[in-house]
Amino acid sequence: MLTGLAASSGIARGPAFVCPCGDPRRIPRRSIAAAEVSAELRRLGKALDEAEADLVTLRDETRQDLGDESAAIFDAQACLVRDPELCDAATRRCREQRINAEAAWNDAAAALDQAFARLDNSAIRERGADLRDVSRRVLDRLLESTEASQPSLPPGCIVVTHELLPSLAAKLDRMTLRGIVAERGGPTAHAVILARALGIPTLLYVENATHKISNGDPLILDALAGRLFIRPPPVVEREYRRHEADLVKHRAVLKESLHLPAETRDGVRIKLGANIGKIADATAAREVNAGGIGLYRTEFAFVVEDHLPTEEEQYQTYCRTAEAIGDRDLVIRVLDVGSDKVLPYFPLPEEPNPSLGQRGTRLLLKHPEILVPQLRAVLRLSATHRVSLLFPMIGGVDEILAAKSRLMAVQAQLRAEQVPFDPGLRIGAMIETPSAVLTARHIAQEVDFLSIGTNDLTQYLLASDRGNRTMANYYEPLHPAVMLSIKAVIDAAAAEGKDVSVCGEMAGNPAYTELLLGLGIRALSVIPLELLEVKRVIRASTTVGAAQAAKCVLAARTIAAVKDCLAARAENRSDRPYAAARSTKSPAEAAWENEGGHILSLTGVSSTPQPLTVHPK
Ligand code: PEP
Ligand code: MG
Repeated sequence: MLTGLAASSGIARGPAFVCPCGDPRRIPRRSIAAAEVSAELRRLGKALDEAEADLVTLRDETRQDLGDESAAIFDAQACLVRDPELCDAATRRCREQRINAEAAWNDAAAALDQAFARLDNSAIRERGADLRDVSRRVLDRLLESTEASQPSLPPGCIVVTHELLPSLAAKLDRMTLRGIVAERGGPTAHAVILARALGIPTLLYVENATHKISNGDPLILDALAGRLFIRPPPVVEREYRRHEADLVKHRAVLKESLHLPAETRDGVRIKLGANIGKIADATAAREVNAGGIGLYRTEFAFVVEDHLPTEEEQYQTYCRTAEAIGDRDLVIRVLDVGSDKVLPYFPLPEEPNPSLGQRGTRLLLKHPEILVPQLRAVLRLSATHRVSLLFPMIGGVDEILAAKSRLMAVQAQLRAEQVPFDPGLRIGAMIETPSAVLTARHIAQEVDFLSIGTNDLTQYLLASDRGNRTMANYYEPLHPAVMLSIKAVIDAAAAEGKDVSVCGEMAGNPAYTELLLGLGIRALSVIPLELLEVKRVIRASTTVGAAQAAKCVLAARTIAAVKDCLAARAENRSDRPYAAARSTKSPAEAAWENEGGHILSLTGVSSTPQPLTVHPK
């Protein structure tokens, strides 16, 4: 993975086309006789005329395609072609040094470019790209070859280039080109403005990209997070494919209920947040108008690196995520690795039964070198954004106390360093183990909120591995034990006056929404893909009807009886055609059974959980 500056946001996938278009060009250089000077100057004059004419045409085309603002770039370039200083310098070199027109022009332009590069003002410095672009265009005319600057791009590719120049950018076609990766450039450079106008995801300052990437290499360009994956491992590939599929599916349902409140028919407001794992998900959450981020799984930020991300790297990632969601609450969960979630660079201890071994908060408490930088990064973000901190895999009060004391130490450290943070930062505990359910009331006394992780809770309650296909029939979120546990946690939180939400995949399955409301849940955090569907069910429900569903379910003794309660309710609801079309299993759960495993839940965009094993790059 390479990183860069996301200059035009978006996500692209496709084969690389390593383009020589921005590379410094080999210029033929030869001495000329005195008698040849005027012929060479005539060649130069003709090339300048032609370049100027080209630019006028390009300006007109660009005006048609992208409007006046973009077209003005080429007006400015046309002025550069006629810049007296540049033209005089080239003429003088040709005459005095007795060199051919190409060499004279190239030297004069290079000298001016160096002068640009020495300027302090970065915006003006970036105009150097226009000079290089113009220089190249004149050279093309002199050399009668445009191959290097105007190559024919294979459709569907991601262009990887040393520098993206405006004239190439203006010719790019969003339909055929998926993304741009450049080693140099600047966010205000004209080419980047054009790429943005065209909506082409663009990543700049990707060091040595043209050397590290070969033609045809499969790439995933995440110009939201500033990352470029070269030959991405299947886990990353799958995540982004899913993300794309999710986006397509979203758009179809977006319009209906986007700006309607998540409110039952009898007027009870539900806090409907989104689960996210990467910046792209945050954008998706914003697109579906999520009422906040109820679960930000930070694993992805660690998994995509080949080293433990530093405090600063994490801070930058969290800032970008916060920016992407705008002014919404953000619940950041500290790293939840161990068991099936593996970091290639962090050797977990060999354990005969990793699911019952070191993972989540337990693991972090043993590894301050991971926990402390993450806490510092989150606290720093809290100075500028409404952030809460969530601890995963809490087994009981002892672990939450230990986590809190570590947090307090980090806060004291920041205070001493005069680094700002929010001292009122809310903290929460995930309820994912039977011990946490049984001691939920004690835990609630120590935190601001509880968040029920039904994926792990189901696994640990039912002693049924969430990643083991052969246990699929035993891994059943509708088991009466899961129902009773959720109810117990809701009651414990209510008794302590604390908030409680559900953030496991159950929350994102519209078939369970009414039931969760009936059990007393007033906050859900769901994958962005399902958010609008869940909202639709909320809006079709009443608290009375939901309470009936919950009453029926809490009295049920078998899984089948629980399912019967839900099926009966779905028959009665006003969203009946929709509810009937959904099974009590989410699409991913159905796939789980077909594919023989849980689907990766790295980012929260997927539905059912799956192993998070990442192969070293
Ligand atoms: C859960 O266990 O329900 C949960 C939300 O956490 P994860 O799926 O990331 O383990
Ligand atoms: Mg979990």
